[in-house]
Amino acid sequence: MEDINIAIDGPSASGKSTIAKELCHRLNYRHLDTGAMYRCVALDVKRKGINYEDEEELAREMNEIQIDFTPDEKVLLYGEDVSKLIRTDEISMLASTVSAYAVVRKKLVELQQKIAENKGYVMDGRDIGTVVLPDAEVKIFMTASVECRARRRYEENARRGLESNMRTLKKEIIERDYQDTHRKNSPLRKADDAVEIDTSNMSIIEVTDAIMEIIASRE
Ligand code: C5P
Repeated sequence: MEDINIAIDGPSASGKSTIAKELCHRLNYRHLDTGAMYRCVALDVKRKGINYEDEEELAREMNEIQIDFTPDEKVLLYGEDVSKLIRTDEISMLASTVSAYAVVRKKLVELQQKIAENKGYVMDGRDIGTVVLPDAEVKIFMTASVECRARRRYEENARRGLESNMRTLKKEIIERDYQDTHRKNSPLRKADDAVEIDTSNMSIIEVTDAIMEIIASRE
């Protein structure tokens, strides 16, 4: 079978990255976590004290920014491994804020499209099926209840050695959902040809199996 591209979109903590990794493992594909790129912009903006409301200042930085991934999925910002630093709750919120700016999206979407040119990618984000890869052969829209997503983020943070609080996580998830679905530029929405999967009561294996079936049915 020829390599295809698989787009996975959905709200924060709906399980996109976990499932993308599992799919990559089964298909021998590469994973592109586009959220990590927006998180890098957030960290960069915070570190440098960039006033993101000043479009020119933000555009200047977006011309310079260097974001890379190592083969073992470490995230590099200007060559520095920031994989852990971009996972804090503060950076999650700031990523959602800066991702609403057109100049940020334009730059990152271009990078993402270039990376996926060779096919064989599982790309997860908010606008993959609608904007980045509208021709992706398989599109999934992954959802889960707020309660379930907060619990998953809590457990993920604990595994990473980060402390968190369920009530704060829920509040932040609701706030980020609102920002991501109500922004003017590329709001989170299901592509018309995407298959929706509610993962609230499904295991990683069950979700991956369901997507593998969808892939097989498209061949
Ligand atoms: O997926 P993750 O939670 O890491 O994404 C962080 C933030 O980046 C999201 O809340 C969203 O605002 C933004 N994002 C986006 N478009 C993408 C991926 C992420 O706007 N393709």
